[in-house]
Amino acid sequence: MFDLIIIGAGPAGLTAALYSGRSRLKTLLIEKMIVGGRILLSEKIENYPGFPGGVSTQELIQRMEEQIKELDIEIIQDEVIDMDCKGKSVKTISGVYSAKSIILACGSYPRKLNITGEERLTGRGVSYCATCDGPLYREKNVVIVGGGNAVAEEAIYLSRLAKTVNIIHRRNDLRASAILQEKLKKNPKINFILSSVVSEILGSDKLEALKVKDVNTQAERILSCDGVFIYIGYDPETGFLKNKLALDEKGFIITGQDMSTSSPGIFACGDCCKKTLYQVINACGDGAVAADSADKYIATFKE
Ligand code: NAP
Repeated sequence: MFDLIIIGAGPAGLTAALYSGRSRLKTLLIEKMIVGGRILLSEKIENYPGFPGGVSTQELIQRMEEQIKELDIEIIQDEVIDMDCKGKSVKTISGVYSAKSIILACGSYPRKLNITGEERLTGRGVSYCATCDGPLYREKNVVIVGGGNAVAEEAIYLSRLAKTVNIIHRRNDLRASAILQEKLKKNPKINFILSSVVSEILGSDKLEALKVKDVNTQAERILSCDGVFIYIGYDPETGFLKNKLALDEKGFIITGQDMSTSSPGIFACGDCCKKTLYQVINACGDGAVAADSADKYIATFKE
């Protein structure tokens, strides 16, 4: 029996663990993939305070992990497949764990285009992680799909490796922050294909080209390339919480100011929550609040 179970070891979960460890709560941190989570799909973060010029996401996560290793936190690699909100227990692939309180920091996963060729050629030219796969495309021609901050940051990263980087975005305007857009426009290797969508991914054993459709004229053309990186947003990892907690229509967890959910003693933090800004800085802030709220909730057992 633990005091607290934290599900997910991204920045939100790691910060929650830091605070719970410092409150001397007997804590279990469960991560299904690798410590760090989806932030590791990006190479660098430029807007985390205290790091002028930015910091590599790997370094930031390593530092967070080292900090919690100084505390008595048990970390296991396992996937949570079910949760009993009332009984405060979680079922994983390998067992069942119980606690007085639970923090959900389960994050989100990359959205797919859901077009022909995408699934078949994933890992053979189609990628969702520039940091992981970018080095395979040195001096090659790559495409990156989307128009948000992730596309902008990863296009800049890829331009340091690839020969050309084409950004394909479905509208005429990017939604990336102004400072990132300025950097994109100044970069001679980056080109824009706007008001366009990728309608098919072509290739037999590996990606050879994309079918690109102009959304205004509906005209289609074939664009040869060696790799395509898809950065069209994220969906919350909350499938196992359906009908257990209040979620919004997209599956994000609805929380109060104290990161409480609709079920007493269950808190949530980070990218799995419904909010207006999805950044590492406020994922960490949420994690701290969630751990503090869980600590107060657990204290009611002692009274
Ligand atoms: P995002 O901001 O949600 O942008 C997703 C982009 O993909 C949008 O431009 C959207 O187009 C496009 N899109 C969505 N579905 C599509 C589809 N089916 N086909 C084609 N295009 C599609 O996602 P993100 O850039 O991955 O970022 C996710 C969150 O993390 C955001 O809140 C972002 O601010 C944050 N983030 C922050 C930083 C940073 O500040 N350092 C870095 C990375 C990410 P429309 O514009 O037309 O909707």
